[in-house]
Amino acid sequence: LSAKFLKHGANDFISKPYLPEELYTRVAQNLEALDNIAELTRAATRDFLTGLYNRRSFFDLGNNIASVRRREKKGLAVVMIDIDHFKRINDSYGHEAGDVVLKAVAGIMENRVSRGGDICSRLGGEEFGLILETGDPEATISFVEGIREAIEEANIAVEGETISVTASFGVAFSNQPDVDQMLNVADKALYDAKQAGRNRVCVA
Ligand code: GH3
Ligand code: MG
Ligand code: MG
Repeated sequence: LSAKFLKHGANDFISKPYLPEELYTRVAQNLEALDNIAELTRAATRDFLTGLYNRRSFFDLGNNIASVRRREKKGLAVVMIDIDHFKRINDSYGHEAGDVVLKAVAGIMENRVSRGGDICSRLGGEEFGLILETGDPEATISFVEGIREAIEEANIAVEGETISVTASFGVAFSNQPDVDQMLNVADKALYDAKQAGRNRVCVA
């Protein structure tokens, strides 16, 4: 019977009569194993500095969302964000201050990107990516504008000083969403935003 239980997915089996101490120990070990799994999952899917989804999750989760949206013939937006002149912050205030700024910007985005299916991720360095389930480009553009303004207006406390930063945004929309392709398109729009003077949202 115990073999049958375990083959069907039970993670432990204890037969009567048992010592209460043995039962408690086994329960505690199982709970510890769950904690370890949660910790490993977090390490594999989240960015260490900001706690946002990492690049790998951006694509894993994003591809799943995109395939559902394709099937349902619904739209998706991919937004690529790059902090403006970030190198200057590291050069003027040091790398640790740069990290504080990255965390602050990540927090602003995470607070706003709060709908169930939406993804907020750190793609690497000072670059972030959003995946937004939307069929309404107008509304999405003003939502993204809101994030841009919130970043511009934030006073970030760094070593007794407050500093502010801006970011540039590239947005891609599609009703047949493919995350890789849309990120490329968003990246080109981001390049246009940089060329046009930074601190702005450009739509492909
Ligand atoms: P642009 O407006 O054109 O985007 O200019 P930029 O200075 O932001 O762009 P650039 O790509 O030249 O510089 C990005 C900088 O980001 C350089 C790198 O040292 C810094 N950086 C990347 N990852 C981290 C990090 O984890 N922490 C800190 N503090 N800095 C980082
Ligand atoms: Mg960059
Ligand atoms: Mg930059």
